[in-house]
Amino acid sequence: MTFDNLITGWAEAVKFGPFVQGDLLDREALDAAFVEYQPVAVMHFAALSQVGEASREPGRYWRNNVLGSLNLFEAMVDAGCKHIVFSSTCATYGDQDGVVLDEQSGQIPLNAYGSSKRAVEEVLRDFRLSHGLNAVVFRYFNVAGADPDAEIGEWHQPETHLIPLIIQAAAGKRDALTVFGTDYPTPDGTCVRDYVHVMDLVDAHIKGLELMLEGNVNRVFNLGTGSGFSVKEVIAECEAATGLQVPHRLGPRRAGDSAMLVSGSRRAEVELGWIPQRSTLRHMIEDAWRWYQTNGYSA
Ligand code: UDP
Repeated sequence: MTFDNLITGWAEAVKFGPFVQGDLLDREALDAAFVEYQPVAVMHFAALSQVGEASREPGRYWRNNVLGSLNLFEAMVDAGCKHIVFSSTCATYGDQDGVVLDEQSGQIPLNAYGSSKRAVEEVLRDFRLSHGLNAVVFRYFNVAGADPDAEIGEWHQPETHLIPLIIQAAAGKRDALTVFGTDYPTPDGTCVRDYVHVMDLVDAHIKGLELMLEGNVNRVFNLGTGSGFSVKEVIAECEAATGLQVPHRLGPRRAGDSAMLVSGSRRAEVELGWIPQRSTLRHMIEDAWRWYQTNGYSA
């Protein structure tokens, strides 16, 4: 069963099982869904997740992300549902001087997206101690790509994420992309991110869920590849993959951005047996491009 308020999601993206339109801030709707569907486990992806917006509207982020999660965890406890996979983020780490981040790295977020997600991790720790709620927490790095069959892809309204914006600019569907900041302490001055294919993330979620259901595991895992790419490198790779020019201009920094976020994912490899299979930059861009050519032009 999928539960979503459709503020940023799409009902058409729900391909399997029943769909309930509801809001995590609506406790009655949540309770009704738990009574009707009796889930054994929950995967909690729901959140506001844009860095720029979070820096402008922190209250909205705290209310939606933290209170919504708190409602969900209380509803789980009351319904006797003990297992949760929670989507956290590398944005909880903030800026750490170019080091590769592992799960023990300090969490000093630079924006309300990261701090609200860090707060939810803390709520989960308390719920484990007091209510025995088991949690696998995944700190995603930058999710990219699309379903290889081009059925489901990345589609936000408005779009704010780098790879879909680049693709739309290359396709002539939007004006030039702005590169946010060229004076970061990185090799070419633009921000460096660790991009991971959405299908590799799916594999990690299945592995995490299985591990938790087998042994009541409580664990935090980074999900990234260990390789970082600058904004300029992503643009160049898109041009190579599509054969199109990406019109872009250099602009000022965006509030709330870290210079570099690159994952050490050894723990996921050793403990989950998770090894990304599709997360080369080229592969992610090709899948995103194929999805856009199949679906995006008409949207
Ligand atoms: N970015 C950019 N121009 C844009 C959108 C994003 O230069 O129009 C940069 C952004 O500053 C960041 C990287 O691309 O360094 C990835 O941003 P995105 O919003 O896709 O993901 P985030 O890192 O915020 O989760």
